[in-house]
Amino acid sequence: MLENVRDDFPLLARTVRNGRPLVYLDSAATAQKPQAVLDAEFGFYREHYAAVARGAHLLAEEATAAYEDARADVAEFVGAAPEEIVWTSGATAALNLVANGMAAASAGLGGDASSPFALGPGDEIVVTQAEHHANLIPWQQLATRTGATLRWIPVDPDGALVLHDLPTYITEAARVVAFTHASNVTGLVTDVEPIVRRAREVGALTVLDGCQSVPHLPVDVAQLGVDFMAFSGHKMLGPSAIGALWGRKELLDALPPSVYGGGAIATVTMEETTWLEAPMRFEPGSPPVAQAVGMAAAARYLTGLGMDAVAAHERRIAHVLRSGVAELPGVRLIGPVGDPAQDDVLGLASVAVEGVHPHDVGQVLDDRGIAARVGHHCAQPLHRRLGLAGSTRASTHVYSTEDDALAFVEALASVRSFFGVTA
Ligand code: PMP
Repeated sequence: MLENVRDDFPLLARTVRNGRPLVYLDSAATAQKPQAVLDAEFGFYREHYAAVARGAHLLAEEATAAYEDARADVAEFVGAAPEEIVWTSGATAALNLVANGMAAASAGLGGDASSPFALGPGDEIVVTQAEHHANLIPWQQLATRTGATLRWIPVDPDGALVLHDLPTYITEAARVVAFTHASNVTGLVTDVEPIVRRAREVGALTVLDGCQSVPHLPVDVAQLGVDFMAFSGHKMLGPSAIGALWGRKELLDALPPSVYGGGAIATVTMEETTWLEAPMRFEPGSPPVAQAVGMAAAARYLTGLGMDAVAAHERRIAHVLRSGVAELPGVRLIGPVGDPAQDDVLGLASVAVEGVHPHDVGQVLDDRGIAARVGHHCAQPLHRRLGLAGSTRASTHVYSTEDDALAFVEALASVRSFFGVTA
C-alpha cells in the first residue's frame, strides 16, 4: 500500500478550474514530480553545475561524477550495467537511435562490425499494430531507406496482440522485432517471452518500447531477454527531455552512431572520424546533465517505494477504474477489465463514449477538475483497428487514489446525458 505518497508531489496540492481540487489522470502522457526529483535537479544547478568530461576544474569533476552516478542508478533500476545505458532526450529519441543506427549500418557507415545491423531488400522489420507512433515511424522509415519489408503482428478486436501464430509474422527473413512492453492505449502488458523466443529462433534483434512499463512495473532487462529497450524519464516521475536506451554492450559498440558531434569521438582528421565506445559514441554535444541527475532521483524514489508495491497499488486503482467504466451504459472500455491479481494491465483505462466525441468528453472532465487525455494517443493504426478515431484515457501513477478513479467513472457516467445522447 502506498500511503502518504501524494504529499511528496507539490503540484497535486493545487486547484484547477473554479477552485476545484486537481484529479490528475494523465500520467501515461507525463507524470508529476516528487520533491526529491525537484530537489535533486535544483541542487545540482545550485551547487555542482558545470560542463561534464575533460574539464580540468573541481566543478567539472563533480558534475561528471553526478552524471555518471546518475547513469549507474538508472542502470540499476532496470537491472543493467552503467555502460549499457545511453542518455537520450526520451524514448522517441532512443528508438530512433537504434533505427537510424541500422540505417547507417545499411549504408555501409559502420564497417564490418556493424554488419548484424545492415538491412536490404528481402529482409523484414517486424513491429506490432499496437505501437505508439514512436515505435512505428522510425521502422517505416528504415524500411523505406533500406528496401526491407515492414511487417506487423496484428491485434484482435479488443486490442490484444495476436501471439498464437508468431511464425506467420516473424518469418525467417526477420532481422529486427520492435514491440511495446505495454500499450499506452489498452494498458495491456505484452507477454514478451514468446516474441523473444521466436525472434531468437530466426536470429532477429529485439527492441522493446519500455516507455509505459518501466515507470509502473518491476522491469529487469536481463530477465526479459531483449537486445534493446527504450524508456523515458518524464513518465517515471523524472524531468522532461531525458530518457535512455539500454542495449547489450557488444551491440551498442557495433551500432554506428547517427547523430554526430563533439564528445563522441576517439579521433578526428579533416577526412574522417573514429568513435568512442558506447555509450559515449551516442552522446555528442553537451548532454542533459541536470535532467540525468533528476531521472536518477526518480529511479531512487521509485526503488524506495518498491516497484512491487507500485505495481500492486496501480493494479488496485486500475481495477476500480476499469471495472467502473466497463459497467457504464454507452461506454466502451478498450480491452478487457483485467485480472487484479496479475500484472496484465496497467493502471489506465481508455474509453469510447457512444455518440460523444472524445474532445467533448474531455471538456466535461476538465470542468470537474479531471485531467485526462483525448485523441488517438499517437496510436492511429491501433485506433483504426478498433474502429475508433480516438478515445478518452485516464491513466494513473503512484500518487493516484481510488477517489481519483471513482471521480473519473462518475464524471463519465454523466457525459451522455450532458450531451443529450439517449440511444
Ligand atoms: N512509446 C510509448 C508507448 C509511449 O506512451 C510514449 C509517450 N507517449 C512514447 C513511446 C514516446 O516517449 P517520449 O515522450 O519519451 O519520447
